Amino acid sequence: MSKQLILALSKGRILEETLPLLADAGIEPAEDLGKSRKLLFDTNLDDVKLVVIRATDVPTYVQMGAADLGVAGKDVLLEHGAEGLYEPLDLEIAGCRLMTAGITGAEPVHARRRVATKFVNLARRYYAEQGIQAEVIKLYGAMELAPLMNLADEIVDIVDTGNTLRANGMEPRELIADISTRLVVNKASMTMKHARLKPLIERLRDAVATRRGAPVRD
Ligand code: AMP
Repeated sequence: MSKQLILALSKGRILEETLPLLADAGIEPAEDLGKSRKLLFDTNLDDVKLVVIRATDVPTYVQMGAADLGVAGKDVLLEHGAEGLYEPLDLEIAGCRLMTAGITGAEPVHARRRVATKFVNLARRYYAEQGIQAEVIKLYGAMELAPLMNLADEIVDIVDTGNTLRANGMEPRELIADISTRLVVNKASMTMKHARLKPLIERLRDAVATRRGAPVRD
């Protein structure tokens, strides 16, 4: 196993909040990630490299050992499943809620509730737990459109401010889970590269605690 550590970062909204936290923990990309089309980056630490990939691919890279560590939203982890992954640290960034939502004031029209979402596994689990018969429909974007177009009775989606829902005449309904961004670690790497991983995880833990204003461990 190589001595190098590969850290997989989720592109987009999460990345913007991850980079300052990594910097607080003393990990900085060798070049500006936003200005490059590269996907694999050196850092100021000789043995740490970054890959910047789609959020939904991060658990797969880490689970398969292509990356040793990853930064991923809890929503993505709940959908993907946690097999082969440790989740040692809540990075306390990109907080949001995973919710059901529907057209404001509307009742479901289908006896077997139609639910549009990109979180199909998670939604199936949730409705089963609630004892609600649901037909889960996989979509890849613009979930809010589905109820408006009579494709679905409701959606399962991420809600932050609720502005997207309101702008489309929809209301948040049930809270499924509070979401934040987590550090995940490949289980084999955690054993084989423990000496190198442990201090890195502790630096991140300290950076999170400092931001929260909590006292840092000795
Ligand atoms: P909002 O209008 O503020 O409720 O934001 C809702 C939209 O932004 C959702 O459709 C999500 O796709 C996206 N979003 C907001 N926060 C996050 C987050 N922390 N992680 C991923 N997507 C998010």
